[in-house]
Amino acid sequence: MKEKLTEEKVFKDPVHHYIYVQDQTIWDLINTKEFQRLRRIRQLGTSYLTFHGAEHSRFSHSLGVYEITRKIISQFERNGYPDWPKDERLVSLCAALLHDVGHGPFSHSLEEVFATNHEEWTCKILLENTEINRVLREVSDDFPDKVAAVIRKTYPKPIVVSLISSQMDADRMDYLLRDAYFTGVNYGTFDLERILRVLRPYKGKIVVKESGMHAVEHYLMSRYQMYWQIYFHPVTRSSEIILRQIFRRAHQLYVGGYAFRWIPDSLRGLLGDRMNVHDYLKLDEALVQTVFTQWAEERDPLLNDLCDRFMNRRLYKYITIDNPDETLLNEISDSFSSIGLNPDYHMEIDFPFDLPYDVYRLDKKEGEKQEKAPILLLHGDDEICEISAKSDIVRSITGLHQGRYHLYYPAEPLQDSADLLPAHIKRLFNLD
Ligand code: ZN
Repeated sequence: MKEKLTEEKVFKDPVHHYIYVQDQTIWDLINTKEFQRLRRIRQLGTSYLTFHGAEHSRFSHSLGVYEITRKIISQFERNGYPDWPKDERLVSLCAALLHDVGHGPFSHSLEEVFATNHEEWTCKILLENTEINRVLREVSDDFPDKVAAVIRKTYPKPIVVSLISSQMDADRMDYLLRDAYFTGVNYGTFDLERILRVLRPYKGKIVVKESGMHAVEHYLMSRYQMYWQIYFHPVTRSSEIILRQIFRRAHQLYVGGYAFRWIPDSLRGLLGDRMNVHDYLKLDEALVQTVFTQWAEERDPLLNDLCDRFMNRRLYKYITIDNPDETLLNEISDSFSSIGLNPDYHMEIDFPFDLPYDVYRLDKKEGEKQEKAPILLLHGDDEICEISAKSDIVRSITGLHQGRYHLYYPAEPLQDSADLLPAHIKRLFNLD
């Protein structure tokens, strides 16, 4: 087992002020090339096209999740709570630090088009022949598997999993504060110090002392605000749609044998659906943006236009549709085709509910392995209740399913050919 560092290391951080590293293993993990790659992956994907400050990286977020986890565990240890299993400190800190290491460039869009999954990549990076795997194995032979089990939520001690994956985990607490800071909005702030003080380990779970209920309400309201103001922002959705279309078009061209004027070798694995962990680790946003700049001059007019749109922020516009029934969508599609647009690429219905964020939910989402542990209040010494049973505010936002359909499309060609469109389509797209 490796020792503590002889001298504590610190990172200056705008959200947590300082991030403290005391363990040699954590320091070595931060210095691996797989972890350093996270400097080149943005935390909020394309949100920088909506909020220009949102350039922060997965590197800073990962350090932040580590720091929150470290603070929670230190509080448990300082107070000597017997329900906290002391041997679990290092595995918890490593899982917190590495939980996002499998994210690719503009992850969510990439995952949708290529059916990959960042959690699976994270586990491959932990378990296959990488620098991270080497550092973890120095702790013990089975240590990489232990950290991967926490990420997969199969670790036998659920209290460890809930530190980084529950309704109020270190991951969410960091990204809310960090995303609020870097987008420049105030909605996402809440009293982290207060929440950290009222957390308690209790019978294999993490619970909140009842006196901390209002701090938790504030946290959940912040989440609610961030969800609508930042994560679901319709302009960000537009940039994600264009990004997906680029990946989709490039994939289609690649498998069809199209001769790209320029394509880096590191992208061939992705486009050809055969990627190993070393190919994957070569992908970052610097590469993807360089490729898009080149592809904006490709011969294929669709790829060329989409890349130009993304790089120069000529995004699709949207209209709101209350009830997108098939007849209406077919009419729109026919009209688009009649003026030379390609409905496959030039119209997309978006419903913001399909996002990896939720405000507070007690039900299980389809395809989810395990529901996120709910927030539990500890009343007195031995009485537990779920927070929405006590809090009117939390009850009012629990399981909220709002959201309206948006139809995204390129506005310029529609405007140019407005005279050729049927009257009701013109009206729908405000072209009168
Ligand atoms: Zn995260």
